Amino acid sequence: MTGRALVLNATFEPLCVVSSRRALILVLDSKAELVHSTGAEFHSERSCLPEPSVVRLAHYVRVPRQTRVAISRRSVFARDGHRCQYCGAPAENIDHVVPRSRGGAHSWENVVASCRRCNAAKEDYLLEETAFVLRRVPRAPRSRVWLLAATGEVSAEWEPYVSLVLAKGERRDPAA
Ligand SMILES: [Zn+2]
Repeated sequence: MTGRALVLNATFEPLCVVSSRRALILVLDSKAELVHSTGAEFHSERSCLPEPSVVRLAHYVRVPRQTRVAISRRSVFARDGHRCQYCGAPAENIDHVVPRSRGGAHSWENVVASCRRCNAAKEDYLLEETAFVLRRVPRAPRSRVWLLAATGEVSAEWEPYVSLVLAKGERRDPAA
């Protein structure tokens, strides 16, 4: 059992991930329909219900366009493709482009994945004081789908819905 279900909007666009128990309640309340089950079942005294893997909302929900994703080692690495943004080596650290000691913010626009070597060599210098060049401008990821991909746990049944949105070009963020 994965214990998690993908919730699709009425338009089949992925919205969020909830516990499969919560998804089942949506289905039982007629707020959503079951699209895929995991193959496992919930057992209660009187009935046996399929564990949802994907459900689709009965009514369309408006989604705010901007969703800020929390900055963490995992989310920064996912955005930057697990590569050092200075040399392309496998990422090991998070580097503040403008060092914290020089007033740099802990923001999506100022953090990048980096290897230990670049991170150590850059020390507390500003970019223009070094030979380091960023491979691309760091930006905040906006898409919820990106967030799903960042969790690294997109199950097989979710794939068609998630890739559908990716194909439509929602993945404009640097992780692409
Ligand atoms: Zn590096």
